[in-house]
Amino acid sequence: MVDKGGKEPLETISLLIEGAGSGRDADLLKAKIWSLEGVKELNLDMESRQADVTFDPSRTSEKEIIRSISETGMTCSMAKVKERSTWWKEKQQLALYGCGIITFFSFILMFLGVGPSITNALFGIAVLVGVYYPARKAIIALINLTPTIHLLMLIGASGAILLGMWYEAAILIFVYSLGDVLESYAVDKARGAIRSLTELVPKKALVRKDGHEVIMPTEDIDVGDMVIVRPGERIPVDGKVFQGMSFVDQAAVTGESIPVQKNVGDEVFAGTINQNGSMEVRVDRTASETMLSKIICSVEEAQSKRTSYQRFSDDFARWYTPAMFALGVAVATIPPLFFGADWHTFILRGLVVFVVSCSCGLALSVPVAVVAAMANAAQNGTVYKGGAYLEVVDEVKAIAFDKTGTLTIGRPEVSDILVYSDITEEELMDLVGSIESRSSHPLAAAIVRKAKEINAFSGKEVKDFQEISGMGVSASADGKQYLVGNARLQQDKGVLLNEYRESIEGLESKGKTVVLVGSEGHLLGLIAITDTVRPGAKDALQRLKDMGIVTVMLTGDNERSAKMIAQQVGADRYYSQLLPLEKVELIKELRAEFGTVAMVGDGINDAPAMAVSDVGIAMGAAGTDIAIETGDIVLMSDDLSKLDYLIRLSTKAITIIRQNIWISLINISFMVVAALLGYLGLVTGLLLNEASAVFVIFNALRLLKWSKTTDASVAVSSDREPSASGGAAN
Ligand code: ADP
Ligand code: MG
Repeated sequence: MVDKGGKEPLETISLLIEGAGSGRDADLLKAKIWSLEGVKELNLDMESRQADVTFDPSRTSEKEIIRSISETGMTCSMAKVKERSTWWKEKQQLALYGCGIITFFSFILMFLGVGPSITNALFGIAVLVGVYYPARKAIIALINLTPTIHLLMLIGASGAILLGMWYEAAILIFVYSLGDVLESYAVDKARGAIRSLTELVPKKALVRKDGHEVIMPTEDIDVGDMVIVRPGERIPVDGKVFQGMSFVDQAAVTGESIPVQKNVGDEVFAGTINQNGSMEVRVDRTASETMLSKIICSVEEAQSKRTSYQRFSDDFARWYTPAMFALGVAVATIPPLFFGADWHTFILRGLVVFVVSCSCGLALSVPVAVVAAMANAAQNGTVYKGGAYLEVVDEVKAIAFDKTGTLTIGRPEVSDILVYSDITEEELMDLVGSIESRSSHPLAAAIVRKAKEINAFSGKEVKDFQEISGMGVSASADGKQYLVGNARLQQDKGVLLNEYRESIEGLESKGKTVVLVGSEGHLLGLIAITDTVRPGAKDALQRLKDMGIVTVMLTGDNERSAKMIAQQVGADRYYSQLLPLEKVELIKELRAEFGTVAMVGDGINDAPAMAVSDVGIAMGAAGTDIAIETGDIVLMSDDLSKLDYLIRLSTKAITIIRQNIWISLINISFMVVAALLGYLGLVTGLLLNEASAVFVIFNALRLLKWSKTTDASVAVSSDREPSASGGAAN
């Protein structure tokens, strides 16, 4: 038995590997290090040749690890012990601090009356210490002949020195580098929020192999392996419970805050937390294919579908920096050359223009806002597949919902079986069940389930099976042709319904879907099916309506049951008996009427409608791959109450982006005018500039922590658990 529950604090060491080159070496190293007892985590970066090993010090030691690496023929040395590179250890920050401290020190000397020869020398040293990193970037820019911000900055500082403004130069370098560090910290933080999702999956798993329990790296686990998950552990794989039962906190994948009970046969997801029971899980997907890794991939790819604001800020940066460069040069040269103005004054003004244009606040704050909003969404079980959808969702005026599987649970149950010919109920269910077992429609599944339940299902031989989209199916069995589907289907194929109209309509007006079984012009019987309205659907729609959004229900189902369900959920409008292509037409009409329209569906036969809407929102059912592929946004938890969260989040993100753009633009224009008129000094110019950049970026970062309750004016009702589900009993 292997014990994973050690209480010792873990230690991390970083090792520099010498003599490693190829990927094969990496595999060898990995195998070697993982073979040690007590190793909990291994991060191997072959590019920097660094291995970070986290281990339980009571079970192994640094020496053990180093020894086992040397057995491979490679050698290693300690890179940084224990803690991973904390940020103050970075060289760039050291340079920044050095520059700051020396500047500060020489300021004090200056106030104490020490002569300028000494203080200026100290300021010069501060510049030398701090300038290295900005200068490196500036030189790259110079080589590429692109006037970047770093280059403008460097010119500003050199100019200040040439004009004998030593302390300005030192402060310039310091403030600029500080801004740079703060900005990259903010960007890392936003990116890291997405990357931290990856870290939810344990690196190692306890696997049962040939009767033994072994610890394996999660990425080496295969489909079909048995993984043992103890209480309190994170589940390392996607799979089905094979043995045991437990409550699982699925917040990481679905955003649901309440743990879900898992019994044998239920699906569990990598990254979720097993709470109280021990379970054995049969693996369904390899580590790179899990739901969580799909979420992460989607979010990462999403950064390529950019918002119009991002395009704006990029375009802006493209002409702004060169324009400022030209303006700076013009200000420094034209007045003294042609109008006999004072060189010193105008060179200084030109430098101030350079310095105030050293802002990347605008360029950075938009992508940071987008990434932060998407990270927030991912943590709430919703996945944006493009930053551009933030903008679309913010503008949504109407939302169309598919009925089955979206507004209803999509797990319909057979409630009535009526036979109109000389066959028995069992014979009817056997026949229809056998035909429907070929269909993937939720109604078909309900019929098959019922047929099996009453022991009528024999699995007859079925031929010529055909699905008639939005209407039903046809097939032949026992030498006869059968039609199973709605009234429209039967009428189209000449099955007479007249004498049964009344009982059909009676069932439909109770909200039931009636599946008719016809053959050779006659109705053999019908099967009535009920589907429960999703608990919370009504609340969710109400909250959308409170926000002024029109809710529309679309369904292929009959008029009466559509009306019934639409009333139950409180949809503003409903359209029934739609074929999938008619749903597409309808979405087009809604777009013409409302402008921006979202379509919420489960991806089963409503994918085309989702595709023509401005933004398709897929019900993820925490696992269906179709949803993840068809939706522009995916609701991993099937939870309609996430819709108003999505809208509020998107609106918040767009508001913050607009704020930032305005703040940056106003600030820039103010500073440029002030600089031209000579009202702005080098230091104040740069301080204003960096302060605004840091401000807008941190303003964008607020989206990481934003939650609906902090902003929502409408309280979230908590009493939406029981309610519906009545009447669905057998
Ligand atoms: P929805 O819009 O509610 O998702 P569909 O477009 O999937 O509905 O189907 C519309 C109607 O077609 C159903 O209400 C049902 O009457 C009929 N139908 C579709 N597929 C089947 C099937 N496999 N068996 C029986 N009836 C079906
Ligand atoms: Mg459907």
